[in-house]
Amino acid sequence: MTQHSKDPIKNIVIVGGGTAGWMTAAALSRLLNCKTTSITLIESDEISTIGVGEATIPPIVNFNKILGINENEFVAKTQATFKLGIKFEDWHKLNTSYLHPFGEYGMAMQGVAFHQLWLKYRNHKGVGSLDEYCLSAMAALKGKFLSPGPDPHAILSTISYAYHFDAALYAKFLRSAAESQNTKRIEGKVKQVVQDSQTGFIEKVVLDNGYYIAGDLFIDCTGFRGLLIEGALKTGYDDWSDILPCDRAIAIQTKSDTRPPPYTISTARQCGWQWRIPLQHRNGNGLVYSSQHISDSAASDILLSNLDEPTVSSPLTIKFTTGKRKKAWNKNCVAIGLSAGFIEPLESTSIHLIQSGISRLIALFPDTQFRPVEIDEYNRQTDLQYLQIRDFILLHYIATQRDDSDFWNDIKSIPLPDSLQQKVDLFSNKGKIVRHDKELFAETNWLAVFLGQGIFPATWDPFADAMPEEETLKAIKSLRAAIADLSNKLPTHQQYIDRYCRAN
Ligand code: FAD
Repeated sequence: MTQHSKDPIKNIVIVGGGTAGWMTAAALSRLLNCKTTSITLIESDEISTIGVGEATIPPIVNFNKILGINENEFVAKTQATFKLGIKFEDWHKLNTSYLHPFGEYGMAMQGVAFHQLWLKYRNHKGVGSLDEYCLSAMAALKGKFLSPGPDPHAILSTISYAYHFDAALYAKFLRSAAESQNTKRIEGKVKQVVQDSQTGFIEKVVLDNGYYIAGDLFIDCTGFRGLLIEGALKTGYDDWSDILPCDRAIAIQTKSDTRPPPYTISTARQCGWQWRIPLQHRNGNGLVYSSQHISDSAASDILLSNLDEPTVSSPLTIKFTTGKRKKAWNKNCVAIGLSAGFIEPLESTSIHLIQSGISRLIALFPDTQFRPVEIDEYNRQTDLQYLQIRDFILLHYIATQRDDSDFWNDIKSIPLPDSLQQKVDLFSNKGKIVRHDKELFAETNWLAVFLGQGIFPATWDPFADAMPEEETLKAIKSLRAAIADLSNKLPTHQQYIDRYCRAN
């Protein structure tokens, strides 16, 4: 097929069978007409998947629902736990911590955002911390979990959650879903990508056993290699290491001796930060660091000396370049997953970027032709999403008061991109948070990190002053009491797993 073909797109070839490949195969095979479109996935057992990527954000719940996945079965089969947010330790300064919860803080009153009222009244007796107005936060801190109830007016409906899961088991789970919907899997290593000599469009991929697979649309899920999008199409990469200098990670798994908390833990270290992701059968751990500031062996020592349990795997060192492909969609090739770009996993956004890449592809699907208008729109939305996530991640670094290493001192001196500076200025003044064009992170996410990192506004929205003080305080305090009461009554996270979705 060429750029101008009138034939419908019939053959989709996905190269790569990691999380990206199987999420794409499962979604496309469920949503496209299998009678008219064939989907082939090629993967090589000789080339391992990245093997990390275990914490997610709330939109994945919907992705699984669209695929018709039963949540309890999925949680059992992937050794998953529930995630109500991320606890950040030592990020603002040493010996401090804060939670970035999923879910809303309070509710707007007479059109005034709840956090504005909290800013005005936070020093009054009985008002407490902002976390006390977020059910997800209170449940997380008490080790509780319950999925949101069906009544949209009940406080329980404000719980928002995601999962921690074993990435290899998730890919396996999706593989069986995709294969049952007619995705054909081919085992083999792609050794050559053949392009049309005129248009540069990819015509086929050739395997090391000499077989070839032709296609109309190719999806590059080959991970950091970017075998099609970069190896063949030479698309180019925007390198953002000057803004986010971490470029390596060491990952290791430990035995799980304790009940899993319903949140990820991210602890800032002298040279970067350490993650701890609790699963049912083990914990995922790792250190993200900057190789300009510390050697691999010193980084490994820091990680190993900060593990609480015995290890059950060998350390795996991964090199990466923060940034994104110049075009995620180039000619008849769409890069999804690590082949499209990577931003350090501080807010667990990579699997979401796979999900949103798939959604965009479905929304702009090329039925018979590859139209520049659709390709450009796909790339515009992808670029914007990467930029917005980059800014959100950078926010965690810039406001720190840590000055105990060159790493932190260097990071604090990085000039802010204008897009982030505008957000910081708006918030620092009157606590205003603007959410741009389809931005992934909502007001509550920005709020949690602004306040957690110690950025407090000079004052509050003047509309908060127009509300009657006594009545407003009464409403605020009764909401706090209701959330405290409900969070006490929820089952523990472990009880919920045992009751509904225990892995055998
Ligand atoms: P890979 O897993 O690398 O898969 C590539 C596939 O391509 C493999 O199947 C391989 O066999 C195949 N392949 C490659 N070359 C060929 C060839 N020549 N022929 C045939 N097949 C080939 N994301 C999150 O959302 N949350 C997290 O907490 C998180 N943590 C992370 C921590 C680190 C340190 C890193 C590096 C990433 C993390 N991620 C996280 C990202 C997440 O791991 C990836 O987004 C996800 O696993 C998708 O990877 P992938 O499928 O694109 O690539």
